[in-house]
Amino acid sequence: MTAEARQAAADADTTDATTLATQWGRISARLHTELGEADYRSWLHQTRIGGCDGDELTLFLPTRFLRDWVRGQHGPRLTAAWRAENPAIRHVALRTETTPATATAPAPVAMPAAVAAPESAPRAPELTGALDPRFTFANFVVGKPNEFAYACARRVATQPACQGFNPLFLYGGVGLGKTHLMHAIAWDLPASAPEATRPPAVAYMSAEIFMHRFIGALRSQSAIEFKDQLRGVDVLMIDDLQFLVGKDGTQEEFFHTFNALVESGKQIVVSADKSPSDMPGIEQRLRTRLSCGMVADLHATTYELRLSILEAKTAQSGVDIPDKVLALLAHKITTSVRELEGALNRLIAEAGLFGRPITLEGAQTILQDLLRAHDRRVTIDEIQRKVAEHYNIRLSEMLSPRRARSVARPRQVAMYLAKQLTSRSLPEIGGKFGGRDHTTVLHAVKQVRDLITKDVTLAEDVDLLRRMLES
Ligand code: ADP
Ligand code: MG
Repeated sequence: MTAEARQAAADADTTDATTLATQWGRISARLHTELGEADYRSWLHQTRIGGCDGDELTLFLPTRFLRDWVRGQHGPRLTAAWRAENPAIRHVALRTETTPATATAPAPVAMPAAVAAPESAPRAPELTGALDPRFTFANFVVGKPNEFAYACARRVATQPACQGFNPLFLYGGVGLGKTHLMHAIAWDLPASAPEATRPPAVAYMSAEIFMHRFIGALRSQSAIEFKDQLRGVDVLMIDDLQFLVGKDGTQEEFFHTFNALVESGKQIVVSADKSPSDMPGIEQRLRTRLSCGMVADLHATTYELRLSILEAKTAQSGVDIPDKVLALLAHKITTSVRELEGALNRLIAEAGLFGRPITLEGAQTILQDLLRAHDRRVTIDEIQRKVAEHYNIRLSEMLSPRRARSVARPRQVAMYLAKQLTSRSLPEIGGKFGGRDHTTVLHAVKQVRDLITKDVTLAEDVDLLRRMLES
């Protein structure tokens, strides 16, 4: 290679430290807007950029907890953001920095910064991580998929430790409102306490923080104090319990605290990504305890719920966003309300920055990478395969002209999911189903949409299939 060629190659290098740092600046600013201050500070703030090796970029996090959490919650988002920012990057690896100090003794997990608490601040501040002031019942949009969980949360807030609701176990996929409901309970508890009595003492923390503090307490020989503190609260809330999986010592401690509190008539609220019976790595006795109160599922959102959420948030922001844009978002961003909010916030931020009204085309451009990331997720072939498997029919029957109900219904479900989960047009979907007409697809979509409001089994099937396809 000549010197000039080498220079040209170096000039074209888009993975040098300066470029990466600039790009990370842009990405992190965006993530900041999308996730909000509290989440960003808690989880991503301490991310340090490593280097590129081939098409893989390394990001460093100070602890294993943080690394696992960021990987689980933001991994795909980070990858998508980097790919969009820098085409030379295809993969993002999250690692911990293995300097001797951090390898043996993980640095403390950043506790979320305390937020200015509304007047009725819950007590036990030393045990309560940041409660997001936006996460109130008033700000929670209720729809079919979450009405049961919402009702249970309200009940616990007004009548802690009431029969049948202790523990309250909230579960559901990422970004469906578990944390929101838990914070809402915490905000509401003091208000619902009878005037003469003191407001209930609340401890809210994520399972990782619980684990971290417990281990820290053990190390500094203050475990007894920590236990006493925990056992002194009226309401204990542990978020994201799935992170206790496999952590036997911490699970054991949680189990004992759990029993002590329930026995003395205190309320427990737990959230997780799965139901107690589906959670792997949880001891049987804890599983049994977790299931013995109220188990409430936050289902995947529906188009209607997503649209209502967007409408509510738009109204709050005071920014004018055309219905068509909201419909686009509700249609495309189906995985989590967090992502939906993130997209909306980005539009609002851009509108504010450039003082331009938001249009459909503008929104499509601004959210290009995000919308594309959602498109990539599921293909019609995958949908057909999964649906066929689920209903135990042959894949070829999906595409065949047969009209027997046993194959026609699964086929309609697959068409419905194709419309919901991909950005394919009706004629394109029809084409993929043995060259059917777009009106057939439209009919299927309407029929399934209609049926799932009446037929619980079908609704569950569709929900399950959607989850499998999106995971
Ligand atoms: P999870 O804990 O289930 O992962 P979160 O409670 O953190 O999800 O919710 C993610 C984001 O979506 C939060 O900003 C939350 O306020 C918002 N959100 C979720 N569900 C709703 C809802 N039904 N109404 C309003 N906002 C919601
Ligand atoms: Mg959460």
